[in-house]
Amino acid sequence: MTHPASSSPDPILHEVFGYSAYRGAQADIIGHMIAGGDALVLMPTGGGKSLCYQVPAIARHRAGCGVTLVVSPLIALMHDQVGALEEAGVHAAFLNSSLLLPESQQIEREMMSGRLVLLYVAPERLTTERMLGQLDSLHERGLLSLVAIDEAHCVSQWGHDFRADYLALNLLHERYPDVPRIALTATADELTRADIIERLALAEARVFISSFDRPNIRYAVVEKDDARKQLLRFIQDEHKGDAGIVYCQSRKKVEETALWLSGEGVCALPYHAGLDAGMRRRHQNRFLREEGIVMVATIAFGMGIDKPDVRFVAHLDLPKNIESYYQETGRAGRDGQPADAWMAYGLADVVNQRRMIDDSPAAEEFKRGQRGKLDALLALAEAHDCRRVRLLDYFGEASTACGAQQNACDNCLHPPATWDATEAARKALSCVYRFQQNRGQRFGAVHLIDVLRGKTTDKVAQYGHASLSTFGVGADVSEAQWRAVLRQLIALGYLRSEGEYNTLELTPTARQVLRGEGPMLLRQPSSSPKRTKGGHGGKTSSTSGGKGKPPPLPLDAQGLKRFEALKAWRAEVAREHNLPAYIVFHDATLAEMAQLAPESLAALAQISGVGSKKLEAYGREILRVVNG
Ligand code: ADP
Ligand code: ZN
Repeated sequence: MTHPASSSPDPILHEVFGYSAYRGAQADIIGHMIAGGDALVLMPTGGGKSLCYQVPAIARHRAGCGVTLVVSPLIALMHDQVGALEEAGVHAAFLNSSLLLPESQQIEREMMSGRLVLLYVAPERLTTERMLGQLDSLHERGLLSLVAIDEAHCVSQWGHDFRADYLALNLLHERYPDVPRIALTATADELTRADIIERLALAEARVFISSFDRPNIRYAVVEKDDARKQLLRFIQDEHKGDAGIVYCQSRKKVEETALWLSGEGVCALPYHAGLDAGMRRRHQNRFLREEGIVMVATIAFGMGIDKPDVRFVAHLDLPKNIESYYQETGRAGRDGQPADAWMAYGLADVVNQRRMIDDSPAAEEFKRGQRGKLDALLALAEAHDCRRVRLLDYFGEASTACGAQQNACDNCLHPPATWDATEAARKALSCVYRFQQNRGQRFGAVHLIDVLRGKTTDKVAQYGHASLSTFGVGADVSEAQWRAVLRQLIALGYLRSEGEYNTLELTPTARQVLRGEGPMLLRQPSSSPKRTKGGHGGKTSSTSGGKGKPPPLPLDAQGLKRFEALKAWRAEVAREHNLPAYIVFHDATLAEMAQLAPESLAALAQISGVGSKKLEAYGREILRVVNG
């Protein structure tokens, strides 16, 4: 039975969440759900997916439709999600394996009475006989309002997060065909989308696809020089005191980098699958609950990290492909405030990634696919035009260069100079050819560059390379430029790097270049990293005496004092309620309070993020802190 749900969504947005307007497709999706339709929602991270089912859940509950089920694989996050709803005055709970029996029995009673507005459940729990029996009874009494399937891509075997339990979710539709369902994901590709529709029987559902642009994220790739130092400078110059994630490829590198950053005064913690579960949990909790922690991690960290104020995601190693890059960088700036996606990239990355594919025992066809994906990522890293355009283009979305936007990518912000490297590429390849001619000898990049630049090293003397016709032919090209040329030649598959010493050899396709194919335009290596002072356009240059991170709004001295006082107050409330601080109020909300210094509850209620429950619970105290 479909209930006529009469509660209008807009007052809910304002009253419960304290927001003034819907974002993007939210209004359409919410209207569609309240009216009882099915939907598949594809929206980037931070796009605001939660409201798409939370507002309909509240509206339909008010209209007497009962309980909304939210299926989510992220057990670790349910506590905080439910905490955020309860803070906003919405009766919500979760059922998962972390609860004791009396607790879950109490929640089941709340559900069966229909009093509960939202119930978060893990998929494996949902499909138990006990749970299904209860749902049957709820449904018979017309109190099963809505089913939301979060992280819906987990149903797809193509994705990286496949969960077998998700396949069974189909039975919800079979048992309760009249209950509207909404499936949500931030995974964009078409294969996954088709899989979700098929496996969750959503052929009739309306599909809402949002732009996958993350306008508040600035994308930047720097050439690796001394990557750790470059990272440290990036953190110190642009993200002092900010929370961030640093991705490394290996566990060892994670540990070393975390240790080193700590030694340099950055509050950094390691996270990888080799640490014991207790330590992983502790580090994750500190990252979520404390301010300004930098998590140094392998890709084992991240799934479902919905901390909104991660200000940067840095890659010290090349990710596997563009999908991974987009997903990992997407963890920055969920709150919509400016954030950085920063990557250091160099010759060794190209060599390593190529070799990992070559050496893997996978079938040749699979390897071809992987090489294609790596090539696309390398093209993004080497690009001298807009990175955002390339990124979106990969996901099938047309866009224009982001130069005019506030958080424009590095290439739009500082268009790199290019040089024609066609001639240099030819010289490098023929030099490798000369090496090979001599009894098939192979050498690494360092020696090759020395020969090209005409340096007389011991090795040059030992092998008599000063007499080669290619000796010194590239003296006019700098070492950094040569490294870029070799990186390109490997990236493009003309050179292959082999063995323990990364010696270089020609591939069959190298002939095309030797025969004169071109041109090859490369970006001019920058001698020093070019970053604007003050970082993001949206940030003020007020680094406010070094203490704490700057607020997301420009504040005068009085405002800053109020901001710090509000943060201290928030930290106390968060501790008392055992919740992360951002669930009490976001930084942006505190900053607005500090800027406007409201003198009445009515004025306070106008600030974005202040709903009626929070106004009632905290309003007077906030007025006291702000005006104190
Ligand atoms: P997603 O699940 O798509 O990654 P969330 O639902 O967590 O994104 O929303 C991201 C952030 O944006 C949250 O902090 C949320 O409170 C905020 N938000 C969502 N919709 C709105 C809106 N209409 N107005 C203001 N803030 C919003
Ligand atoms: Zn751009």
